[in-house]
Amino acid sequence: MKETLIRSTIDSANAAKEIGLANNKIIVSCKVSDVQDLIEVYTSLSKRCSYPLHLGLTEAGIGSKGIVSSAVSMGYLLQHGIGDTIRISLTPEPEESRTKEVIVAQELLQTMGIRSFSPLVISCPGCGRTTSTYFQELAGEIQGHLRKAMPDWKKKYNNVEDMTVAVMGCVVNGPGEAREADLGIAAGNKRGHLFVKGRNVAVVPESEMVEALIDWATYIHEHGVDAAVARVDTALAEREATKDRNMLLKEHGDDVNHADEKIVEIRKKVAGN
Ligand code: SF4
Repeated sequence: MKETLIRSTIDSANAAKEIGLANNKIIVSCKVSDVQDLIEVYTSLSKRCSYPLHLGLTEAGIGSKGIVSSAVSMGYLLQHGIGDTIRISLTPEPEESRTKEVIVAQELLQTMGIRSFSPLVISCPGCGRTTSTYFQELAGEIQGHLRKAMPDWKKKYNNVEDMTVAVMGCVVNGPGEAREADLGIAAGNKRGHLFVKGRNVAVVPESEMVEALIDWATYIHEHGVDAAVARVDTALAEREATKDRNMLLKEHGDDVNHADEKIVEIRKKVAGN
C-alpha cells in the first residue's frame, strides 16, 4: 500500500511535468493518517524524488492527540531535513477556531528553531511553590497579548518574533529558572516580579502584571535590554523581590514539594520494604 502511494505520487508529479507544468510549480504531498506510515512514506519520497515536499498528517484527531501525533511525525521529518511546507490538520473542538491549526504549525516550527513567528511564551508547570493559580491564566493572557501586538510590532521592530518571555509560577525560583528568557514575570504573594535576563527589574501588583510585561516588552524592542534595565532602580526591585521570597520561604519552608519524604519512600520501594 505505502509503495503504491509513493509510486503514484512520483508518477503523478512526473506526468504533470511531462504535460508542461514547470518544475518550480510542483510541490508533492502524500498524506497518510498513521505516524509511522507518514515517516516511512516521506523518508522514501525524499530519497526517490527531488520535488519539494508538503508534509501533513491527515485525520490526526482532536485536542492533544491531534497535536502530539502531528508534532511528533512532522518534527521527526523536519529534524531530518525532510519537508518544505507543512499543514497541521486538527478536528476543532466545538466552537473552536480554525486558527489553532496555524498556531500549532507556527509553534512547531518555532520550538524547533526553524522559523520564528511571535515572541514565544515559556511557562513552568507550577508545583508546591505556587501560591495561586493566577499564573496559569497569565501565561495564556500574555501569549494572547503578544500575538495581538505582533502585526504592529513587526512593522516597527526588527527580529521582534525572536523574543522569549517567561511566565513562572513562583517568585522563589522563577527568575532563576527562566534566566535565559529575555523578559519574564513570576507570580507570588499577589505581586508580579518582572525580570530581564534573570535580573529583577520591578515588582508590581497582580492587577498590573500583564500591562507591565507588555510595556517592558515594547521598551526592550524600542531601546534594547541594557537601556531597559538602566531605566529602573534594580536594587530597589531586588529588595522588594527578596522581601516576597523570604516571606514565602518562611511560610512554606525550603522543601515545599516534600522531596526528602518522597526520596525516602522511593528508597523503601526500591529496597522492597
Ligand atoms: S518556577 Fe517555582 S512554581 Fe514553577 S516549577 Fe519552578 S519552583 Fe515550581
